[in-house]
Order: sequence, then structure tokens, then C-alpha cells
Amino acid sequence: MNRRVVYPGSFDPMTVGHVDIIQRLHQTFDEVVVLISESSQKTALFTTQERKNLIEQSLPSLKRVKVVIYDGLTTDYMKRENISLIVRGLRAVSDFEYEMGMSNFNKKLFPEMETLLVFAKPEFDFISSRGVKEVARHGGDLQGLVPPPVIKALQNKMSK
Ligand code: ADP
Repeated sequence: MNRRVVYPGSFDPMTVGHVDIIQRLHQTFDEVVVLISESSQKTALFTTQERKNLIEQSLPSLKRVKVVIYDGLTTDYMKRENISLIVRGLRAVSDFEYEMGMSNFNKKLFPEMETLLVFAKPEFDFISSRGVKEVARHGGDLQGLVPPPVIKALQNKMSK
């Protein structure tokens, strides 16, 4: 059986929390599609192409991870590619309500799909892309928050 899963998000930029989820999925599934979307609610620091490059540079050894930029509904991508499982990470109870709403919405659009919620590792559960950007903006230490290629990219962005 070819077990494929979609892990969608803004990844602006990818953090070590995202990396951990992808590594864990990679152990269980045949293919992990990291689906980058332009978030309508958030102003992005990196372009979708920059985000894609950073994810690929941060995960060089994961051969069954595919990074895709998709400007549409996640469920439309899933229908087109014949993938029925979506994964989201849960950091805190505050994520739960949002994820439940999203999951029910997606199921309405694509009844055959299921959402798999994966708990963040305790040591990463405070890490968010938004927090990381704040640290970078003020020249704080990014070590251990984002993969090395992202540290470089953030420092470059902030020095412009
Ligand atoms: P979105 O804008 O869709 O929330 P994000 O890029 O912020 O996209 O997050 C993508 C997914 O990764 C979400 O399911 C989110 O809950 C999860 N995630 C974010 N940060 C972490 C973390 N530190 N540990 C585990 N999962 C995380």
C-alpha cells in the first residue's frame, strides 16, 4: 500500500518543531507532502519559493519528502493527488479548537479525508514561526529554534 500524507502550513519559516513532525511522519508513511500555502491571515516574511528552498535545504536526507507550493484549497490538492490523510501539529490546547474547526470544514469539502493530529514534542511546543521572526527581528539567538539554513536566511532578511 502506498501511504501518503499531506502536511500543510505556511512554514514562514520552517522551525525545528516542523522538522520534528516531518521526521516522525517520514518513519511511518511512504511519502510526506509538505504543502506550502500563502496564509491569507498572516503577512509573510519569506516568499513561498524561499520557504520551499529552506525546507528542502533543511531536510536533505529525507528522500520521501516532497515540498509543494499550492495556491488553493488543501482538499482540492488532496483530491487531485488522491491523498486522503492530512496531518497537523498540536502544540497546546489553544491549537485544538482551531484544528477541530478546520478538520470539520475540510471533511465537509472532502468527506473521504481524515485529519491526523500529532502532538509537538514538549521541548518544541513553545516554538512558532511568529515567535522565531520576533527573535530574529531583535537580533536574538536563533540556535535550536530553526534549522541552520533558516538561521542564515533570517539573518540575511533582517540585515536588509
Ligand atoms: P499554519 O499557518 O497553517 O498554522 P504553520 O506553518 O504555523 O502553518 O504550522 C504548520 C503546522 O505545523 C500546524 O499544524 C502547526 O500546528 C504545526 N506546528 C507549528 N509549530 C509547531 C511545533 N513547534 N511543533 C509541532 N508542530 C508545530
